[in-house]
Amino acid sequence: MAERLQKVIAHAGVASRRHAEELITTGHVTVNGQVVTTLGTKVDTGDQVAVNGVPLSKEKLQYFLLYKPRGVITAVTDNKGRKVVTDFFEDVRERVYPVGRLDYDTSGALIMTNDGDFANLMMHPRYHIDKRYVAKVEGIPTNLQLQPLREGVTVDGRKLAPAKVKILSRDNGGKRTAIVELTIHQGLNHQVKKMLKQVGFPVIKLAREAFGPLTLAGMSAGDYRKLTHQEVAKLK
Ligand code: URA
Repeated sequence: MAERLQKVIAHAGVASRRHAEELITTGHVTVNGQVVTTLGTKVDTGDQVAVNGVPLSKEKLQYFLLYKPRGVITAVTDNKGRKVVTDFFEDVRERVYPVGRLDYDTSGALIMTNDGDFANLMMHPRYHIDKRYVAKVEGIPTNLQLQPLREGVTVDGRKLAPAKVKILSRDNGGKRTAIVELTIHQGLNHQVKKMLKQVGFPVIKLAREAFGPLTLAGMSAGDYRKLTHQEVAKLK
């Protein structure tokens, strides 16, 4: 079946569809040895597509949920030699990469895939997927003190979307800390930490317990599992 060139490149896990379009228009893509710069060119399975001279391998699209442990970088390499999320996927033939990012000291649910289009969709700001976080915070907030988060707090000069906020427990063992659950759909850098700091309750520890309908039920830190077709379809 003939498919559009940019789609074939994105599906091979080489780039997102938008990046694939750029690669095509800037002359980095060949079909059967000929440079093709026209978007939408149709190719067949028999056609040999190469990006920067490297033939596309017909990679199978893979989707995983990783329970990222604390102390792991959300990246595919680290120049300081620290553990990265792809280290957990050495036994997986396809080159998967993270969808979005969790901080080095944050644990929790992280999707890993080689489907560039899917990754782009999940990250799109207009694509509202709820992410549920549980934070241990310094201090003991009242519901009223957390109210600005429910209304949309301003962080770094930007008004954020309202969050769902629940206090799960207060004053754990007299340590003047509390456990707060926060559900947001945006994914700005250090967003949860910044939001809670803004209202006066700095985060001590953070975990992402759910990404949309995906939870870590039955998993331990460092485990990963394949997503089912239904789970992938539900996210799209
Ligand atoms: N918000 C943060 O502050 N850190 C994360 O890792 C994820 C969301």
